[in-house]
Amino acid sequence: MSEAGSPEVLAYVALGANLGDARASVLAAVDALGKLPGTRLVRASSLYRTAPLEASGPDFINAVVALQTTLSAPELLTQLQQLENAQGRQRPYVNAPRTLDLDILLYGDAVINSPVLQVPHPRMLQRAFVLVPLAEIAPGQVSAAQLADVASQRMHRL
Ligand code: ADP
Ligand code: MG
Repeated sequence: MSEAGSPEVLAYVALGANLGDARASVLAAVDALGKLPGTRLVRASSLYRTAPLEASGPDFINAVVALQTTLSAPELLTQLQQLENAQGRQRPYVNAPRTLDLDILLYGDAVINSPVLQVPHPRMLQRAFVLVPLAEIAPGQVSAAQLADVASQRMHRL
């Protein structure tokens, strides 16, 4: 339990960027995530360079972090969106290139299906750029079969 009395939850957040200085954006976001209210950074994966998947523009820089947080899942989503907006993210069309994308992958063992938030993230199992960094920091969360299913997606650990 935290000082405020809210339970602490281990959450996994995926980071991605492919506009501007994507590497700097992701590193700044990792730092900012650890400074969110009631939150500390537990682990951060390596950075990965990945080809766009169902998206356009330059290669992405991706990473996954583990956060211990007393924020509720909706509060965490709001904080992530504020960080995205602070990095100047615009959404001109679906899957447009982005300065920063922050997605909640897992929030403890919660299953959430609201219109604005689905956890576990519904597309995480199709994405090497999520599964590979997640497996790096939390091997128990990803099976060998799940990794094998996305092994054809090109990515490079930096
Ligand atoms: P995407 O990440 O799919 O490329 P956006 O970042 O624009 O696209 O997110 C679109 C919407 O996805 C957000 O407005 C948010 O409400 C919703 N969403 C649903 N589940 C999640 C999640 N687990 N993490 C982050 N956003 C989510
Ligand atoms: Mg997103």
